Amino acid sequence: MHPFEYLAPESLDETLAILARYGDEAKVLAGGQSLLPILNYRLAQPAHVVDINGLPLEGMRLENGRLRFGALTRHATLEESADIRHHCPLLSEAARLIGNVRVRSLGTLGGSLVHADPAAELPMVMLALDARFTLASTRGVRTVPARSFFTGYLSTTIEADELLTEIDVSATPAMGYAVEEISRRAGDFAIVAVAALVRIDRRGRVDDARLAFAGAAPTPVRVSQAEEVLSGHEPTVERVAQAAAAARAAAQPESDTFVSAAYRRLLSGVLARRALARAVSRALEAA
Ligand SMILES: Cc1cc2nc3c(=O)[nH]c(=O)nc-3n(C[C@H](O)[C@H](O)[C@H](O)COP(=O)(O)OP(=O)(O)OC[C@H]3O[C@@H](n4cnc5c(N)ncnc54)[C@H](O)[C@@H]3O)c2cc1C
Repeated sequence: MHPFEYLAPESLDETLAILARYGDEAKVLAGGQSLLPILNYRLAQPAHVVDINGLPLEGMRLENGRLRFGALTRHATLEESADIRHHCPLLSEAARLIGNVRVRSLGTLGGSLVHADPAAELPMVMLALDARFTLASTRGVRTVPARSFFTGYLSTTIEADELLTEIDVSATPAMGYAVEEISRRAGDFAIVAVAALVRIDRRGRVDDARLAFAGAAPTPVRVSQAEEVLSGHEPTVERVAQAAAAARAAAQPESDTFVSAAYRRLLSGVLARRALARAVSRALEAA
């Protein structure tokens, strides 16, 4: 590991001042589950590491029908909190699939979003939830929708002097939900993952359908082509299969050392069908 100065600010203002002073030469440390391997392999060699674990950025509060998560909320909290499971069960179902118990007890929501691994569950789920991210710096505060946050492989719109402080999503207790994924071994990153949310109106038709992929492109993506096939229609088995076929056609996966693009595309269709079918069945129970 390249030598660095370790800083542990105790307030948000102090943290933002450090980030403003050092810019690209500083790296924020949250759960360390992605950053420490990167430092170990010398893929990044920051002169300053800014440990934010002393800041009061952990936990969720409910405000006007929206859930507001501090960026330091651990994956294990998303998985285990009864409150979060009630108001946003999609998030709990996704968090359960991340890595192993050690990773989930240290890793944070904010760290996963800023790291922006294209196969990670939480960025995908945030797209499906139409989340908004609060980014703070000494220049002020801005809110970025999840849809414009992820810009490329491991890349986002966050600037070097900005800190992700809060993530907010609408509560979705009345929507059917499902996350499906395939990975090589339990606890590995997914090859492809899918998140689905479906709401059914009193006439038995879909009035809100949302589908997002991880591992099917260099960034997590929303699959509007599949959502359009379902919206306004009865969610029959045939309709769900058509939506899954549209999702498969829309996927733009790439090949890597382990998996071909063709296999990822195949998985995209299969997992989209499974996730939509499960979300529809939960939505029918909730309707
Ligand atoms: C064995 C193993 C298996 C894993 N499996 C999975 C998996 O299946 N699915 C999955 O999604 N992830 C997986 N992960 C990654 C894990 O979820 C990480 O916890 C997460 O990606 C990063 O969160 P962190 O809090 O550890 O962030 P860190 O590692 O501390 O930071 C990650 C990056 O985000 C930046 N950062 C962190 N917080 C902020 C903030 N608030 N504002 C600005 N920048 C910030 C850091 O500077 C760094 O660049 C795995 C990790 C390991 C080690």
